[in-house]
Amino acid sequence: MPDPTPMPDHRPRPERQLSARVPYDGDGDGPAAGWHRIPPQTGHLVRLEAGQVLEIVDPLGEQVSDLYAVAADDVEECLSAGRTVDYNNTIYISTGHRLWSNRSRVMATVVEDTVGVHDLTLTPCSQETFDILYPEFEGAPHPSCFANLCAALEPAGVAPDRIGTTLNVFMDVWTDRLGELHIDPPPTVPGDRFAIRAELPLHVGVTACSAEKSNNGHCTPIDVRVRR
Ligand SMILES: [Zn+2]
Repeated sequence: MPDPTPMPDHRPRPERQLSARVPYDGDGDGPAAGWHRIPPQTGHLVRLEAGQVLEIVDPLGEQVSDLYAVAADDVEECLSAGRTVDYNNTIYISTGHRLWSNRSRVMATVVEDTVGVHDLTLTPCSQETFDILYPEFEGAPHPSCFANLCAALEPAGVAPDRIGTTLNVFMDVWTDRLGELHIDPPPTVPGDRFAIRAELPLHVGVTACSAEKSNNGHCTPIDVRVRR
């Protein structure tokens, strides 16, 4: 039987064992009971004890969520996209892969993923991202994942310069044979989810990404829940 969703040649992806989609009761009016809604173009701080699971749902589809984590006992220990790529030997992480810190400790494990498309190569969108890459905005103030992560993680004692490359959940960035990066709309449908289990006590900043172009032209909310 042929693969029902073959990837085009120009966008190769490894095969992933995806989690089954389950119904999600949230919609445009609000999150499902027990979930927290991150409004469009904002961020949120989540505290996780070891063993707790952070679930991230895209309630309306085609929405990216940037995630950045620091160790709760020392915020100088933080998510390292580079080490995460190194130790997983892939830039496309999914269920079973681990998120590693700059000190090469396992911070979290991916435990659920209905999509299999997430990015570890791009930094969180920032005011400067819009200024440099989108001159059509003419330098106008724009909400950004970086500013939202700074605000979310500031109460945890995280300085802006400590915030590096994020795990960009649901973001479809792919690299062609010449090394050029391409960004496609998130392939998510309403209710798609991604979850990590904390292996250390963590502070996690999560956003509903602010960059219209990364979200197929419309910025929508992200819903999160901590499963104990
Ligand atoms: Zn963003």
